Amino acid sequence: MKIICIGRNYADHAKELNNAVPEKPVWFMKPDTSLLKDNAPFYYPDFTSDLHYECELVLRISKAGKHIQEEFATGYFDQISLGIDFTARDVQEEKKKKGLPWEEAKAFDGSAIIGKMVPAADFPFPLQFSLEKNGVPVQQGHTNDMLFSPAKVIAYVSTFVTLKVGDLIYTGTPAGVGPVSIGDTLTGKLGDLILFQTEIK
Ligand code: ZN
Repeated sequence: MKIICIGRNYADHAKELNNAVPEKPVWFMKPDTSLLKDNAPFYYPDFTSDLHYECELVLRISKAGKHIQEEFATGYFDQISLGIDFTARDVQEEKKKKGLPWEEAKAFDGSAIIGKMVPAADFPFPLQFSLEKNGVPVQQGHTNDMLFSPAKVIAYVSTFVTLKVGDLIYTGTPAGVGPVSIGDTLTGKLGDLILFQTEIK
């Protein structure tokens, strides 16, 4: 399986990092070794001193497809969850400055928390989600604020890569990204439902 992540999909987050609001979805991938499941602890890596959380709505692909048309694209995922796209912000800034790829900042082991999957049919859009750090809300997301809807994202990405059953799409983060420290606990909530709770060690 592969993990596709959308960058800059919320205007307010693009602004907070001084990025232009994109005309087309920006995307990158993480390997399967980046997945962190079942509320396993996350171990703070030693190559960064500015690790950031990015809480994102995640779609699980349920049907293989290439060149998926936008009007049919919502039929290509059946489960959703919340996840964290961990980002070594200091490493990413250095790569961005040099125009280099982001993998060292984004694709390391454990960099993709994935929460408990729930049936997409039980959670019709629009959806609200939030991230708490040590019990304090730090990010609030609303799917109406996405620049590119899940259908648009699936249609666009599938013009380049075939989507397969089990692939995950992280749909981008709203504003409010920030650093984590050892000892912090991150809790992802879809409405009031807790989908992950991860301790930073
Ligand atoms: Zn992200």
